[in-house]
Amino acid sequence: MMTQAINTTAALYRSLPAMDNLLLNSTVLKLRQEYGEAWVKQQLSMLLNQARAHIAEREVLPKFCATHDTLIKTLSEQLLAAQRHSLQAVWNLTGTILHTNLGRSQLAESAISAVTKVMRYPTPLEFELEAGKRGHRDQAIGKILQQLTGSQSCCLVNNNAAAVLLMLSSVAAGKEVIVSRGELVEIGGAFRIPDIMRQAGCTLIEVGSTNRTHLKDYQEAITDNTAAIMKVHTSNYHIHGFTSAVDEKALAQLCQQHKLPLLSDLGSGALTDLTEFGLGDEPTPQKMIQDGVNLISFSGDKLLGGPQAGLIVGDSELIEKLQQHPLKRALRCDKMTLAALEATLLLYRNPKALNDELPMLRKMSRPVAELEQLGQLLMVELPEFFAPHFNLAIVPTQTQVGSGSQPDTLLESLALTFTPTSKSLYPVHQLEQKFKQSPRPIIGRVSNNQYWLDLRGSEQEVRLINALREVGQKL
Ligand SMILES: *Cc1c(COP(=O)(O)O)cnc(C)c1O
Repeated sequence: MMTQAINTTAALYRSLPAMDNLLLNSTVLKLRQEYGEAWVKQQLSMLLNQARAHIAEREVLPKFCATHDTLIKTLSEQLLAAQRHSLQAVWNLTGTILHTNLGRSQLAESAISAVTKVMRYPTPLEFELEAGKRGHRDQAIGKILQQLTGSQSCCLVNNNAAAVLLMLSSVAAGKEVIVSRGELVEIGGAFRIPDIMRQAGCTLIEVGSTNRTHLKDYQEAITDNTAAIMKVHTSNYHIHGFTSAVDEKALAQLCQQHKLPLLSDLGSGALTDLTEFGLGDEPTPQKMIQDGVNLISFSGDKLLGGPQAGLIVGDSELIEKLQQHPLKRALRCDKMTLAALEATLLLYRNPKALNDELPMLRKMSRPVAELEQLGQLLMVELPEFFAPHFNLAIVPTQTQVGSGSQPDTLLESLALTFTPTSKSLYPVHQLEQKFKQSPRPIIGRVSNNQYWLDLRGSEQEVRLINALREVGQKL
């Protein structure tokens, strides 16, 4: 018995094709040309090792080794799958429009073509065409940004966290910065105002209490060692009830009296009145400039709808200090970001058309009636493909803005829900996996043992319906 088993196993090992032969197979030769010698060899040797491990464990050949053809087919599928980009397109039907984990804002078409152009051709990134001399890379965008915000000058970095770090390092390193206790924000990840202060080499002077801070609290905290007062927009939470904060105008006056700069971390930083698009009120940099704030920082990929970037606008003298700081060089934007940002900012010359141009605003301002129509269509097209495992329904829901923007704004929406029937062989989390394994992954959420797809995030709807149907067909 024993000897026979060993013999069979040995025969199985022997039945595996030799690497050298496989490499000369005509299909494999083509694969070697397409994917590279070393990579194909490595993948092939991995498959053969898997086969040997399978034989050792179960004393049978794995299915993919049934014939040479099945082995080569597996190799070729594996090579193709490994070429799939991890940064691929997905459908964001999570119910959060500006989803940080899904890349925040989608860009306007004009921004996308601007990026492609600067990737493909040389571009005067640091060159003044008219004067024919060396220029500054933030200058191109300076003009439009200054027009939109009424600021004297600007400085651009990779994100708003970098912007805050640069502001504090340039203006207040080694000195004290006064901030209200109600504004010691944590944005998520490791971004907390007290931590950034430490990184920038500043001493944080907290004033007031969590819910109430008064002008005299700031006043009494000013010493010879004070370098600045900073306001932080509590963009991702609101304190309701017995509250009081000092507005920028009053703080600007206090700062002027003491010859101190007033800094503001605005967070989301909308450049136009977003209530026109069904969103809440959001403080704008232009209002801050009018109120006398000296430096204002905000994100490019939150409510602005552009690329990831940190925009700082304000007084020329202070901006010059930021531009000269060694950190600026480490944090500066690349040409793709700058091109996308310029194209996005140019759209703001005509704010009324923004919801046609910016996917984020288009989705957020879409009338519920349109979502109802889509819902009806889905209920005609889909249920048969998910029967008998899931019952489908269209139910009211609310969409969040996301990225810590406007926590109090909830947009009316509809969701397509999948509820397991009593006959269902599929737990909801397995359905979720199937949606994620779709060629263009579909991302929804699980809640109350149901799977939810929020329709406010939908786009390219004919394709979406086909993709949803395919998931159903594969159950
Ligand atoms: C989002 C946010 C930041 C961080 O901005 P990023 O662009 O994500 O780096 C900083 N401060 C506030 C108040 C924010 O809302």
